[in-house]
Amino acid sequence: MSNLDVIVVGSGIGGLVAGALLAHYGRRVLVCESHAIAGGAAHSFSRQGFEFDSGPSFYCGLSDPRSLNPLRQVLDVLEESVPAIAYDPLGHYHFPDCTFPVYCEGDRYRAAVAKITPQGAKQLERLEQRFLKLYSGLRDIPTLALRSDWQLLPLLLSRYPLALLKLLPQIGTIQGSVGDLLDQEVQDPWVRRLVDLECFLLSGLTAAGTIAPEVAFMFGERTRSVVDYPIGGSGAIVQALVRGLEKRGGELRLNTHVEQILVDQGRAIGVRLRSGEVLNAPIVISNATLWDTVNHLLPPDALPAGDRQTALATPAVDSFMHLHLGIRAAGLEGLTGHHVVVHSAQARLTDPGNTCMISIPSVWDAKLAPPNHHVVHAYTLEPYEDWQQLDRRSDAYQAKKRDRAQCLYRALERVIPDIRDRITLELIGTPLTHARFLRRHRGTYGPAIAAGQGLFPSTQTAIAGLYRVGDSTLPGIGVPAVAASGILCANTLVSVEQTVAALKKIGR
Ligand SMILES: Cc1cc2nc3c(=O)[nH]c(=O)nc-3n(C[C@H](O)[C@H](O)[C@H](O)COP(=O)(O)OP(=O)(O)OC[C@H]3O[C@@H](n4cnc5c(N)ncnc54)[C@H](O)[C@@H]3O)c2cc1C
Repeated sequence: MSNLDVIVVGSGIGGLVAGALLAHYGRRVLVCESHAIAGGAAHSFSRQGFEFDSGPSFYCGLSDPRSLNPLRQVLDVLEESVPAIAYDPLGHYHFPDCTFPVYCEGDRYRAAVAKITPQGAKQLERLEQRFLKLYSGLRDIPTLALRSDWQLLPLLLSRYPLALLKLLPQIGTIQGSVGDLLDQEVQDPWVRRLVDLECFLLSGLTAAGTIAPEVAFMFGERTRSVVDYPIGGSGAIVQALVRGLEKRGGELRLNTHVEQILVDQGRAIGVRLRSGEVLNAPIVISNATLWDTVNHLLPPDALPAGDRQTALATPAVDSFMHLHLGIRAAGLEGLTGHHVVVHSAQARLTDPGNTCMISIPSVWDAKLAPPNHHVVHAYTLEPYEDWQQLDRRSDAYQAKKRDRAQCLYRALERVIPDIRDRITLELIGTPLTHARFLRRHRGTYGPAIAAGQGLFPSTQTAIAGLYRVGDSTLPGIGVPAVAASGILCANTLVSVEQTVAALKKIGR
């Protein structure tokens, strides 16, 4: 491809959304991906007939045109779709003393809570009303309309004046944390912990650190749209975005590691690949994390010293232990797909190994596993620093790996008591695996920027022509959020008229 307009470094969901939208807007786009598989944290990989998700498995709104999910809006613009299976309950949360089904449908959810704490269920209803009010305020302004420059306000005023008016009274809530709302509405300790857990699953932080719109989006989508799982796994979403990119002339190059973003006189001018090849374009978009972009991709003196320092000082959520299993399915007929196990009520939800997430997506899409088998992914937070000195080929590493996977096995035993006897394939991943395969700084889940203590950085940077997308930019971590970051970036690079045409195309 010659005469590129845009080079995107990385094919995570944020990078693919930005790249595919810009291709849709008529730009000549090249996406360079270091890995052999596209999708970053959301890539799928195959082993012995099992199709594993490397990360996300909680999705929403893929099969519902009313959804607020920015990813769905992008797929609609690209005229791509991802067939998905809707399900309810969302999952089962296993606390030390009880197991609790989390229904998407509000009344059933609260009825399940009322069995444990009737008072708490009433308080939860008040909290939900606050979230749903915010959700309905947000729903009239599609994320696809957003951009990250001064033209945003005139665009919103001209197209969505009433929606803006409706949102005005919610400004305080939008800027606040879930913890603020929790303090106002919920005193019951059990429900407070439940909300902390819901927040942790979204942001990696508890209620005090999680911004209210993020949870309002999750509650709203759950009750007003659908929770669904893409047929074919998370890779099906990635493939749909790649198709969207390529059908408008964009290109994805796999196994193409960008060594450096080239900067000349304060302006990005292209990239140098690990192979030595130099590619030029007036716009470079980095989908690498904030730390990777600043530490590895930019020349040390490219950014003003203050900006560089601030970026590198951004706190990061821990990395993960992963367990990917292929198991025999005989006798597991009633199995459900999502489980969260909290081992200890005394430890914090954020303590490594205490909260374990489990997904078994073959209960929704049997083709993800060979006949009569299931595919299992379990993961929990794990600090990178406990691993960084270890050689991956050493016995000490192997022993530690087995040891640290035990909390995941104990979690799985809450769901499938004889799990260890069913295993036909076992893959254990550590923070080193996570960092290596996802090319992420210390294998982090993303920035630990707590509500009220700063905003995620914008798509723009101090370097002209250099933009960033992904989960270390606004609005934050998670597939819907990084899709939104791709939209913000792409729209900022095109005229308002082009965005309006895209909005009209999806009837917004
Ligand atoms: C275990 C786990 C479970 C999760 N569960 C959920 C969930 O259920 N629901 C949800 O919504 N979210 C979930 N998330 C979060 C979500 O997956 C991420 O926030 C999101 O996918 C990150 O996307 P991104 O655009 O930031 O890019 P990333 O996924 O970080 O991808 C960046 C890409 O850039 C590439 N790259 C980096 N450096 C270079 C370079 N120098 N040259 C070329 N390429 C490079 C990388 O290889 C990678 O492919 C989960 C995350 C994890 C880790």
